[in-house]
Amino acid sequence: MTTAVQFLKSDGDSSSTADYDAIVIGAGVSGLYQLYKLRELGLKALVLEKGSRVGGTWYWNRYPGARFDSESWTYIYSFSKELLDEWKWTEHFATQPETERYLNYVADKFDLRRDIQFGSEVIAAHYIEETRKWEILLSDGRKYHATFLITAIGILSASTLPRIKGVETFAGEAYHTAQWPHEPVNLAGKRVAVIGTGSTGVQTIQEAAKVAGQLTVFQRTPNWCAPLHNTKITDEEMEQIRARYPEIMARCQETPGCFVHGPDPRSALEVTPEVREAFFEKLYSEPGFGIWYGNFRDILVDSDANALISDFVARKIRERVKDPKVADRLIPKNHGFGTRRLPLETRYYEVYNQPNVELVDVNETPIQEITPTGIRTSAGEYEFDVIIYATGFNAITGAFEQIDIRGVGGRSLKDAWASGPQTYLGFLVAGFPNMMMVMGPHGGVGNFTRFAEFNANWVSELLRFAVARGATRVEVTQEAEKRWFGHVADSGIGLLSNSVDSWMTGVNSNVEGRSARRVMRYSGGFPAFREYCEAATRDNYAGIKFE
Ligand code: NAP
Repeated sequence: MTTAVQFLKSDGDSSSTADYDAIVIGAGVSGLYQLYKLRELGLKALVLEKGSRVGGTWYWNRYPGARFDSESWTYIYSFSKELLDEWKWTEHFATQPETERYLNYVADKFDLRRDIQFGSEVIAAHYIEETRKWEILLSDGRKYHATFLITAIGILSASTLPRIKGVETFAGEAYHTAQWPHEPVNLAGKRVAVIGTGSTGVQTIQEAAKVAGQLTVFQRTPNWCAPLHNTKITDEEMEQIRARYPEIMARCQETPGCFVHGPDPRSALEVTPEVREAFFEKLYSEPGFGIWYGNFRDILVDSDANALISDFVARKIRERVKDPKVADRLIPKNHGFGTRRLPLETRYYEVYNQPNVELVDVNETPIQEITPTGIRTSAGEYEFDVIIYATGFNAITGAFEQIDIRGVGGRSLKDAWASGPQTYLGFLVAGFPNMMMVMGPHGGVGNFTRFAEFNANWVSELLRFAVARGATRVEVTQEAEKRWFGHVADSGIGLLSNSVDSWMTGVNSNVEGRSARRVMRYSGGFPAFREYCEAATRDNYAGIKFE
């Protein structure tokens, strides 16, 4: 390839210079694949990773019960047939250790580790206009320079502790689920508290209840949950899955969330009550997100249709939980089924029938303080050996806020996004040349690997285009960014989930200034997102300036 500008060619030795064509932050699902693609382009690339191994989310979230709730065989990388043929999933919804093993296998197979520096926490990234390079600073003082900065820092990676008085005073063991120790944590026979009942809390509670002497769950907002129905994958079944990979991947490309589950074309309001009930029963008995993404087409956009499925699941909760008062506490009242991320569970509701489990509704009896010995609510004091915080994340933009990112004129990204993120296709930000985001805000939320692969491919094509032109400065125009934001905002109109507080609408009571909803994600579904991105490519990136 002839280029007007000399790019550094990979010589396989990433330690020889602190100057790179591209630096990727994060060695999780998206960062690993992005590195693979950068090498394919022949660029000299480095990945900076805070953890000591690859895996990102699947490295940090080691809490008891952590597992996929997307089908394992759809969450796999699809770029290498050899990889698809080699890897064997043992369960339809793999555990965290299995997923972490998979990502390590990928890193080994493609020899990715030689361009990854572990224990490297990026604290600042500044665009230097004179050199047209990013200067990247690590917490230990190391400094790197790169023409392109690619963030692959995840959408759920900046964990948040609750803002409750005395959090730091507890003298027993305390863990946030996303900062779980690598050493085994023994909960057997102990007095354990779990705060939080999102997808993570639900998975943790199910496991902790099996061994804890006493488990007390502090719930603020109940979530609608549905059965996961996980099973083992036999060798024969794995062979069949391998043979069907092209079909499975093609199917994922067609559905809004990139799952195998896509909406049923019928309206919940048009069918007879018998047909509706039978369909809901079928979905409730099937594995995975079918009941969420494969339900009647209107349950997520029409409140009357939504009330029907909410009522169905409420009945299921009442059937499964023996104490009607406890069942009632577990039934959400302020949002409909599927309007927040649906936790999938395995005998979660039955946990509350166990004598060693208590559910505390913190709306009835608010937590007043965490003390050295436990938790004090308005109803009294509970003593604990272990407190588990399953209190979630400063989602989507939180990981960006942890890095002092500055673009043209020293303007900080935090300031640029003060009232919510602004992006072009979720990949670029005006005023931040040569910064590309893989799985940034407005880039779609669903089956993470499917979206991440698409994202990294798109970014790589953009880089190929830029490099072929010898461009050393790539920046989206304000107009293109504004147009995309308008489209993202429009695509969310009418979706019930956008009228509900959750991480998907950017609300987090544990982060200052995050009580109002924001446009955080593209709600138009993957096929529409892909179409927009491909149109931009076909259009020779008309909204982007190459210099
Ligand atoms: P989350 O859904 O944001 O849940 C956080 C929980 O903590 C909520 O129940 C929240 O209550 C509660 N909470 C926060 N601060 C609190 C406070 N001060 N007092 C009392 N309760 C408090 O976070 P998450 O469960 O970690 O899940 C985040 C996302 O990660 C999921 O939605 C999913 O996308 C992903 N995830 C995926 C998997 C998987 O694929 N297998 C597993 C786990 C998680 P409120 O609702 O009242 O705010």
